[in-house]
Amino acid sequence: MQPDEFRRIGHEVIDWIADYRERVADLPVRSRVEPGWVRERLAPLPERGEGFDGLLSDLDRVVLPGTTHWQHPGFYAYFPSNASLPSVLGDLLSSGLGVQGMLWSTSPAATEVEQHLLDELVGAMGLPERFRGGGVIQDTASSAALVALLAALHRQSGGTWRQSGVDGTETVYVSSQTHSSIERAARLAGLGERAVRSVDVDDVLAMRVDDLASRIESDVEAGRKPVLVCATVGTTGTGAVDPVREIAALCAEHGIWLHVDAAWAGPAALCPEFRHLFDGLDQADSFTANAHKWMLTAFDLSLFWTAHPDVLVDALTILPEYLRNTATESGAVVDYRDWQIPLGRRFRALKLWSVLRWYGLEGVRAHLRRHVELAEMLESWVAGSEEWRLVAPRSLALLTLAHRDGDDATREAMDRVNAAGDAFVTHTTVNGRFAIRVAIGAESTEEHHVRALWQALAASG
Ligand code: PLP
Repeated sequence: MQPDEFRRIGHEVIDWIADYRERVADLPVRSRVEPGWVRERLAPLPERGEGFDGLLSDLDRVVLPGTTHWQHPGFYAYFPSNASLPSVLGDLLSSGLGVQGMLWSTSPAATEVEQHLLDELVGAMGLPERFRGGGVIQDTASSAALVALLAALHRQSGGTWRQSGVDGTETVYVSSQTHSSIERAARLAGLGERAVRSVDVDDVLAMRVDDLASRIESDVEAGRKPVLVCATVGTTGTGAVDPVREIAALCAEHGIWLHVDAAWAGPAALCPEFRHLFDGLDQADSFTANAHKWMLTAFDLSLFWTAHPDVLVDALTILPEYLRNTATESGAVVDYRDWQIPLGRRFRALKLWSVLRWYGLEGVRAHLRRHVELAEMLESWVAGSEEWRLVAPRSLALLTLAHRDGDDATREAMDRVNAAGDAFVTHTTVNGRFAIRVAIGAESTEEHHVRALWQALAASG
């Protein structure tokens, strides 16, 4: 494709995306296709290049019916994953530049824009100053958890982990509400599930510090080595917030790495009124917040900070001959290849930069606050309802609700709402009871959408 062809077809592609976003609210949120429906409609690969028209028409014919519309205003499932249009343009610019920023020297701007943004966000989000200079973009919070654990293993071993690996006595602490990515990180790090301790939670589903303390103490007495505690600000199920400051004190006492997972709630730190949720973060060793959840940035972009970039780099560094270069050897630059699992890396910072410059910090704060206000509105309706109740306190823009008639009624209501196509909600269980999660966070969700969701739920009663 020559640049002039790119220019012409590129306009068509941008038009296609703009048209899609204009009409996404009219499509059923969830794809309704049966398994195999999409593949049955795909042609064999062409021997000869065929241009772009066929692909664009297949997008309408096959891809759209097989797509669940995450940018739909009625998307309340899982956690919405904002892909604002400025971030789409930023992503396009990143692909257009086509750089691979594994080393500072493979594209200095890719590294330095990223460093600048992550340091600026330390100030904008009120994060601890000890994170300045320790920020990096990961693809996902799952990768962030894994690198945090590897750094923790390295530190706990006194630096021998790189050479000798684990010895089977290392332990990791989560709660029953912690995201499954921590357990997976433990498996990937070779610790096995048996190393993962599931700490009890209290009545608002936050980690119980007394139970954490007793589990750590009995492990220490048994000769095991506690390596990492993962505290969560905004759990996946109900948005519960673990008591980070108290957990941090225990971690400090035992020399344990504290990772704070705020994959969903993290962006809320941009708003001073929500910062109390992050109390104790100044004591954490690492922290993650997904810009691809609630910070208007197209998947994938997870923000990760550590107070110990030296430990992280020491744990992960590897320098084969072909990557040697004078900038690295000068010690004057950051090579982000040593801060992540893969070697290669995209210029992801461009899409975040596009978002932050288009909306400004105030624009992003307004986006967050609007969702919280909508959630407060829905909360007030639930509070006044004789049929529905909240099963956990509202957390920012996440509500967890159940029908008073029990699990079957809740499940039926969810199925009915989802089948109608105007909204999509998912579920969790709270103390063994089935509950609907309403995660308000799509960019285009307005009051009338939430009102319609509530009417649909209420009608199901
Ligand atoms: N942590 C929490 C609290 C989450 O809610 C999620 C996903 O919803 C994750 C981690 C995993 O995020 P990612 O898909 O970026 O790995």
